[in-house]
Amino acid sequence: MSKQTFVIAGASLAGAKAAQELRERGFDGRVVLIGTESERPYERPPLTKDYLRGESEREKAYVHGADFYAQHDIELMTGTTVTAIDLGGSSVTLDGDRELSYERLLLTTGSEPRRITAPGADLDGIYYMRSLADCDVLRRRLDDSGRVAVVGAGWIGSEFAASARQLGLEVTVIDPLALPNERIFGAEVGGFYRDVHVQHGVEMLLGQGVEAFEGDGSMARVRTSAGKVVECDFAVVGIGITPRTGLAADAGVAVDNGVVTNERLETSAPGVFAAGDVASGWHPFYEQHIRVEHWANALNQGPAAARAMLGEDVSFDRIPYFFSDQYDVGMEYSGYATSWDEVVFRGDRDAGEFIAFWLSDGRVVGGMNVNVWDVNQHVQELIRSRRPVDVGALTDPDTPLESLVSETTA
Ligand SMILES: Cc1cc2nc3c(=O)[nH]c(=O)nc-3n(C[C@H](O)[C@H](O)[C@H](O)COP(=O)(O)OP(=O)(O)OC[C@H]3O[C@@H](n4cnc5c(N)ncnc54)[C@H](O)[C@@H]3O)c2cc1C
Repeated sequence: MSKQTFVIAGASLAGAKAAQELRERGFDGRVVLIGTESERPYERPPLTKDYLRGESEREKAYVHGADFYAQHDIELMTGTTVTAIDLGGSSVTLDGDRELSYERLLLTTGSEPRRITAPGADLDGIYYMRSLADCDVLRRRLDDSGRVAVVGAGWIGSEFAASARQLGLEVTVIDPLALPNERIFGAEVGGFYRDVHVQHGVEMLLGQGVEAFEGDGSMARVRTSAGKVVECDFAVVGIGITPRTGLAADAGVAVDNGVVTNERLETSAPGVFAAGDVASGWHPFYEQHIRVEHWANALNQGPAAARAMLGEDVSFDRIPYFFSDQYDVGMEYSGYATSWDEVVFRGDRDAGEFIAFWLSDGRVVGGMNVNVWDVNQHVQELIRSRRPVDVGALTDPDTPLESLVSETTA
């Protein structure tokens, strides 16, 4: 029997880790990893952090060493786009003209920045941040320029603002919400992050959107909806991302805020799987479809999808997790808290060392540790237990978190 071919569309973190897993599990058929970008797979978190600031080598960003793919007989095709899927014929089209048959297909096409539509949005000097190539351009702008406007106080905008400030630029952040990430984390944590930026000298123009970008050919100022005019040399826009679902949707694979999968990450088309930013997977713990736009999800979901492609039992039920670094403030968050009754704190919020817990019906549904380490596992265990917690003990730094975990899981 001829060897099977497993095709992975999207050569980034989820795709590269899936290819690795296939080999580690002993799959001896063809593994073809296809990516539009000219780079071999890399991780994106350094692009707003150390790599952007010129503090780490490019090599550190790659998922694997340059020899890894050849050594593991993974056919890495960079600079190549999967332009169509023929579900009936079990084949994909590459760059519009070449056919490649598959026994299993994994979609790891990720996501792309949402574009801003304000007048002047097509002027030169307005940038988005997604790829290494974007980052290289912005590194040069950071070297040459003195003033930047950052549109969007989400994680990408906030991290970019922090790095630009650390490099000595004058930074203005503009966001229509009253506080950074307010919709996702509420006022308490949003307020903390606003204050962190203010303390580092960032001008925070909150509660106002972009009315227009202005300039003669090249962007020279941003006019906000509150009438404020921000003079700047360039602008970076971080207003969220959109999953790249076009390939799947065109083929007739079910799409609804991402490529819809079951808990084993298989899409509506048998033999076709999805993982990473693009996947909206059925989550057994939350009993709903969830799409997670974070590094750890791509890291873990890619290999899980690979195991499912090999026919193993898979039920992807990890609690969503992500991290962010801004200035000297590092944090990890776990959970999927869409609503809550209160946010309580353990530790010293003013000193920037604390754990915030989101509580619903007396149960922990989310937790963020800021400059406090080796606790996120316990946060996850508290969430998973679904048991009511004693808020006094939860907020008392002298009560070990482990003891609460054992109480709630007993
Ligand atoms: C600047 C930046 C900083 C970040 N920092 C953090 C952080 O601090 N913490 C955190 O938890 N998360 C962070 N993230 C999020 C994290 O990087 C993403 O969740 C992760 O990259 C998702 O990986 P992925 O493999 O699903 O998709 P992607 O990284 O989006 O990669 C998908 C790849 O598929 C390719 N592709 C798309 N369509 C096709 C096609 N038809 N054919 C071939 N190739 C195709 C794309 O070109 C791309 O290379 C950050 C993201 C960015 C952009």
